[in-house]
Amino acid sequence: MKYCGEHTLFTKAIVTGGAGFIGSYIVDYLVRQGIEEIIVIDNFSSGSIENLREHLGKKYLKIVKDDLKKWGNWVREFKNVDIVFHYAANPEVRISSIEPRIHFEENVLATFNVLEASRKYDVKYHVFASSSTVYGEAKTIPTPEDYHPLEPISVYGASKIASEYHYIAYSKLYSMNSLILRYANIIGPRSSHGVIIDFIKKLLKNPRKLEILGDGTQKKSYLYIIDAVDATFHTLNHFIREGIDYDIYNIGNDDWIRVVDIADIVVEEMGLENVEYIFVKTTPDGRGWPGDVKLMLLDIKKIKKIGWRPKWSSREAVRMTAREIIKKIKQSI
Ligand code: NAD
Repeated sequence: MKYCGEHTLFTKAIVTGGAGFIGSYIVDYLVRQGIEEIIVIDNFSSGSIENLREHLGKKYLKIVKDDLKKWGNWVREFKNVDIVFHYAANPEVRISSIEPRIHFEENVLATFNVLEASRKYDVKYHVFASSSTVYGEAKTIPTPEDYHPLEPISVYGASKIASEYHYIAYSKLYSMNSLILRYANIIGPRSSHGVIIDFIKKLLKNPRKLEILGDGTQKKSYLYIIDAVDATFHTLNHFIREGIDYDIYNIGNDDWIRVVDIADIVVEEMGLENVEYIFVKTTPDGRGWPGDVKLMLLDIKKIKKIGWRPKWSSREAVRMTAREIIKKIKQSI
């Protein structure tokens, strides 16, 4: 498998959470690059075999259904692996404030186990899916990678920081090379959670009214999945060339969009009119739920400096995603 047009580095990769939304696109990309062996480790808690449909039965893909929270047979799969893309996690920020233990186990404990498996079999390269939520309510917007202090307002955000620091320590101690990517909101046709799918589901049930969690002024940055995967491999190529122990990049867009504008786009794409918006007050300050960051825009100067730019704006990404999900639902009826 070629990287940077000059190195042939990877023949065998693990993608944890490879049956999930982003993970399955990572698998697609690796296959297009001609990698010889990919092992997906997923417990299918939110992932779906449908996301891997085009690769099923192919020699290059092995799917291991297992739970990373528990040290088990899956660990053996790390033998002779060149790179681990760790994308398995529970990504539902909302759940993390109601049941914090889930996020500790699914995100922190599972990450620790993945790192231990990597240490056992001496895996060199790592890509970790972190999140914009590590910044909490940043006072600097757009928020750069070196912003501090990191003060997450959700247990999900805390679990991502804890994982990031484990990656850093393991990289320093055990000669690993870890690329930490702090993603903004990533959206696309295979996404199974988040505001767009939530609105579509609600409007299918009742096309006259739409319940919006919070006051609708929450404003965040969205990146289309094709852009997100492109940015992931662009940074990875650069990271490998640099040969440093770890690095952190924001992966996001130049712009942001309000929740109420997302609602307008979804309504339009569903061909509806005169939909009444009902704003549900869940916190005194208009957030969608406790732990919801109201304003999120990542500073993407660092990734731009190495030559990457998003192709689609937040607004375009929302429209494309809404259109594709609606089409998929219509086809399945
Ligand atoms: P997803 O839910 O579609 O994918 C997560 C996958 O991990 C699923 O296939 C799930 O079955 C699997 N999984 C969960 N717990 C597991 C466990 N204990 N053992 C094995 N497999 C397990 O979510 P996604 O949106 O594709 O997110 C992928 C990664 O990117 C996550 O780490 C998430 O925190 C991170 N991230 C996502 C976004 C986003 O907007 N989608 C933004 C920032 C960061």
